Amino acid sequence: MADLFTRAQAVIPGGVDSPVRAFGSVGGAPVFVERASGPHIYSADREYIDLVGSWGPALLGHAHPTVVEAVQKAASKGLSFGAPTEAEVELAELVIDRVEPVEKIRFVSTGTEATMTAIRLARGFTGRDLVVKFAGCYHGHEDNMLVAAGSGVATFGMSSSAGVPKGTVEDTVVLPYNNREAVETLFATHGEKIAAIITEGAPANMGVVPPTPGFNAFLKEQCEKAGALLILDEVLTGFRLSKAGMWGIDQDVPYTPDLLTFGKVIGGGMPIAALGGRADVMDWLAPLGPVYQAGTLSGNPLATAAGITTLALADDAVYEQVNRSSQALSDGFSQALSAEGVDHTIQRVGSLFSILFSDTPATNYDEVAAQDQFRYAPFFHSLLEDGIHLPPSVFEAYFVSATHTDEVIDKILAAAPKAARAAAQATA
Ligand SMILES: *Cc1c(COP(=O)(O)O)cnc(C)c1O
Repeated sequence: MADLFTRAQAVIPGGVDSPVRAFGSVGGAPVFVERASGPHIYSADREYIDLVGSWGPALLGHAHPTVVEAVQKAASKGLSFGAPTEAEVELAELVIDRVEPVEKIRFVSTGTEATMTAIRLARGFTGRDLVVKFAGCYHGHEDNMLVAAGSGVATFGMSSSAGVPKGTVEDTVVLPYNNREAVETLFATHGEKIAAIITEGAPANMGVVPPTPGFNAFLKEQCEKAGALLILDEVLTGFRLSKAGMWGIDQDVPYTPDLLTFGKVIGGGMPIAALGGRADVMDWLAPLGPVYQAGTLSGNPLATAAGITTLALADDAVYEQVNRSSQALSDGFSQALSAEGVDHTIQRVGSLFSILFSDTPATNYDEVAAQDQFRYAPFFHSLLEDGIHLPPSVFEAYFVSATHTDEVIDKILAAAPKAARAAAQATA
């Protein structure tokens, strides 16, 4: 594997096609995957239980036979047409059926495209430029969102990226997450200039940071008063936390986002993503409206087939299984860490969780960053040695699938005491 990484680094910057895969924050060589099945990934010489799940898409487990069969069948009919298909209509209807605020939807190929287009659409629709985002929230790698972003960006401690023109980010305002006062102050002074707030359904790219109860509803209320739009970025949480994503489990104080973005689970591992929401806003997209967006491979038939099959299979039983397994896993990790006296908090929203190495729960990025980050690398490597593949960064959530049965969870937890000891012995 180290050999393959050396070969990769000679021809691909950092040896990887997406930065966090490079193990930069935990050290060592990444696992090069040959194949995957259910809860497992396989390198050339080893089986691992996987808790990355392709960073979210693998809700049903890797290579679910029915999904693979649907993709194979679609492939035999042609790989891409550049013309509309019935399958796109079917997937659109499935999403609209599950997620009430979605009246119309457009498919793109990546989550980045989805949020980029949602922001352009909000700006076009409102005729305003300012977009509000929260520190530690990741919305993809488009220029105007690479300010205080999470995910790989958080890992590498970049506050933004080189190559992003100053002018591009001048219209992005970054606020601390869960801070209502900061939002109110901004809207009181600049409300009439704000096109949209974009926020993760529940932040999970700085580790998991749950919104305080009613926070998303509060954001919608602020937007509505100011004539701005709320974009709920459910690229990670959509169809993972429930059939209707985070929005579906976040209705104690009811709210309706104006736009939502999807990715990851919606394609079950194939490159497809989407933006959807209010029909009167969505109709501002070309060819009906003046906001341009396009894509050679948008609504690709293989990706669409994977999406339709994944959503159809993601029934109540799947969500119950994932919730139960995720709870058992975080309980077990927590017990192991407590036994070794390691300060920690399980940060959780629905089935998504991460371990924060601090005994004070984190409500925003600064609090996440203040944890004992140095405990993660030894924890991670102890588990990797024992055949458990965790996300290679303390700033990422753990992804459980419906194939992570009790037996699989027990195997992971058998390795937890040793990992907890490694975390306890770590020094800054
Ligand atoms: C992954 C992610 C994106 C970007 O999606 P890509 O498909 O990687 O471009 C955007 N928003 C959120 C919340 C994500 O988790």
